[in-house]
Amino acid sequence: MSLAARTGPPRLRHLTHKRTVLGLSTVAVGLAAAHYAGPLTNLAGCRSIAGYGRLREVTPFLWNGPRLSSRAFSSSPSSLLSLTPSLSKLFKFDTASSSQSVMPGLTPPQPAPKWSHTAEDITRLTKEAIEHDRELQDRIAKLKPEECTFESVFLALAEGEAKFDAITEPLSFYQNVSASKELRDASNEAEVLVRDFGVESSMRLDVFETKLAAEKNIKASGRKLNAEEQRLVDKMILEGKRAGLALPEKERDELKALKKELSQVCLEFSKNFNEENGVVSFTLEELKGVPADVVSGYTKRTENGKELYDITHKTPDIFPLFKYAENPETRRRAHESYDDRLAINVPLLDRALELRRKCAALLRYKTWADFVTEVKMIKSGKGIEDFLNDLEQKLRPLGVKEREILLGLKQAEHKAKNLPFDGEFYIWDYRYYDRKFIEESLALDDSLVKEYFPVSVVVPTILEIYQNLLGVRFEEVKGETWHPDVQMFAVWENGAKDENGFVGYCYLDLFPRASKYSHAAVWPLLPGYQRADGKRSYPLAAMVANLAKPTPDRPALMRHDDVVTFFHEMGHVFHGLLSRTQFARFHGTSVARDFVEAPSQMLENWCWEPRVLEKMSSHFETKQPLSADLIDKIVKSRYVNVGLFYLRQLFFAKFDLKVHTDQDATDYTALWNNLRTAISLVKGGKQGPGQGSFGHIVGGYDAGYYGYTYSLVFAADMYATVFKKDPLDPKLGQRYRDSILQPGGSREELDSLKEFLGRLPNSDAFTKELFGNAPSGGVGASL
Ligand SMILES: [Zn+2]
Repeated sequence: MSLAARTGPPRLRHLTHKRTVLGLSTVAVGLAAAHYAGPLTNLAGCRSIAGYGRLREVTPFLWNGPRLSSRAFSSSPSSLLSLTPSLSKLFKFDTASSSQSVMPGLTPPQPAPKWSHTAEDITRLTKEAIEHDRELQDRIAKLKPEECTFESVFLALAEGEAKFDAITEPLSFYQNVSASKELRDASNEAEVLVRDFGVESSMRLDVFETKLAAEKNIKASGRKLNAEEQRLVDKMILEGKRAGLALPEKERDELKALKKELSQVCLEFSKNFNEENGVVSFTLEELKGVPADVVSGYTKRTENGKELYDITHKTPDIFPLFKYAENPETRRRAHESYDDRLAINVPLLDRALELRRKCAALLRYKTWADFVTEVKMIKSGKGIEDFLNDLEQKLRPLGVKEREILLGLKQAEHKAKNLPFDGEFYIWDYRYYDRKFIEESLALDDSLVKEYFPVSVVVPTILEIYQNLLGVRFEEVKGETWHPDVQMFAVWENGAKDENGFVGYCYLDLFPRASKYSHAAVWPLLPGYQRADGKRSYPLAAMVANLAKPTPDRPALMRHDDVVTFFHEMGHVFHGLLSRTQFARFHGTSVARDFVEAPSQMLENWCWEPRVLEKMSSHFETKQPLSADLIDKIVKSRYVNVGLFYLRQLFFAKFDLKVHTDQDATDYTALWNNLRTAISLVKGGKQGPGQGSFGHIVGGYDAGYYGYTYSLVFAADMYATVFKKDPLDPKLGQRYRDSILQPGGSREELDSLKEFLGRLPNSDAFTKELFGNAPSGGVGASL
């Protein structure tokens, strides 16, 4: 999930590239990037782009804006401390069946990496890697123009970056998983050094000039590069141009100054976002309906003899209020406080947008959106506009119908409680009636479903499904890892007879512990690529998750949401393992940012297929699979109020697009409120500066919000066109490997999709799925 399309924190080169995209490239460096690139990236990739199956999970995040600080993720509740002892024993991976499929006694042609670094090692090795890479760039920069060739410049740089990443990525990874504070701190500092160096490298005019000379010489010689080599040349040159290196000196300096200010403004915006600590206060009477365990977590105080509860704007505090507070006046007041909470960011956003307009103009792009999308699948601001308009037009009738149903619920409730009813559906009504509708129409009990998903059953079953589908085998390897809970696997082609069948390494770090990254994400720690000596360098992907904890009377159980997340993340792991490219920078998930989630989003569909659900479930006491009735309810829950949900997504995306395509500034508070009413079909109250909390816009998602929905369209198309008829068919799995996973970013994503689908992708499957399954039914028939 990352800006430049990786699932973990991005690699240096992508960062370099990313900073250019972000407009951060020159000076702001370490802190800015470290502050929001990594975690948001992960979020973007995996948490918030979650499939439509997790609407209710995802929405709070979107409403709350992204969490921009890596600090937000690095601490775990102290209660986890007591759980450390060998949680990996919770499930045992069964290699008995797979041992038949791989010749016994095979040894991977590449040893597994060591995980015994000290803090000093981390610092020293990082500095050495930087020094080596700088020397390499210095050497290249000294080449005479006639000495600049594909080999002496592009290939040398590509090899340099692959080696650099292979050393620094695992070292930067310790901060997320190490039990030692000393190591985590050293790792964090190492990452700052790496990011600073990335900025330095991205701005080297001397190296850029050798690239131009080499490109010229290649053309003049009439030499024909292969497609991936040509792509390497084109991408490396484009990066330099996007960083402003092709501009005359005066403009280059101007751009540098603009970017410096831009990064500072963005940093201040996110700092305010992270440090926001306002509250809104209510009496117990006003909080009627909010569950008692939630209320007991609010801070109580006395003011003028009255007991008041302070509710922060953080998700766990304020979202239960939106969902449960019966008094509409309470919800309204809470919402207005929520919308106003970052008014301090309004002038900062104004300034950031102005700076971006100036940067785009200097770099000769019509709009900032055109600049950003040049390196994405969608290619232009106009492309985003067409995509969003088309979807909005299709979704509106569905949303209107859902809104009518929810408004009907509101009318009935107001009548029963003798509350005034003005016929309007407000934004603070949405969560409340969405929840009521689900409770009344589905009667789906999440806690009952959970009993059917013990970790010890789900994890091996999912691995088994992937192995059979994609024709690979996991062989557990006993060896050094960063923590005793971690399981390491050598991954082989099914039926491997010799070391040529080796695929790579996979690490699973699945259980919570203190100071571990607290969400689920995949780090592609080593890329696969062709080495200079002709041999292959093999990839390594690490999944870090926080699966359920056992209690004294129950084993570790997963919610259905967790099952979907695990399946999704494993999709990234296989993207990282099964790619086979010539160059490291195109490996696996290094695809366009607005495509990177599509494969994993597609794979989420398996978790909504009745026969797969049956296969992966087993009640922790009775050992029975889920009943047909429960499966039916789970499947139905996927599409509840999906029209309103996506219209809300479109509102965010359209605001993001408009502010990055307009040539002039406007009143963004008015724009925010007007667009919200017009697109998401909910009425607002007083016009609050909600754009001040739209963190995506400074956190790397500028002109990128559409990507959440855009990749879902491809996911739906791939699934419906190829897999739907038999999601477990290994022949289809092989087709997926060949057309989507193997090429990684080594060619245009659209070409991969065309090959896989046998035609150009379209949004039919996506809309059909939404409309065909919507509980209100049949709305799509007339579209
Ligand atoms: Zn993801």
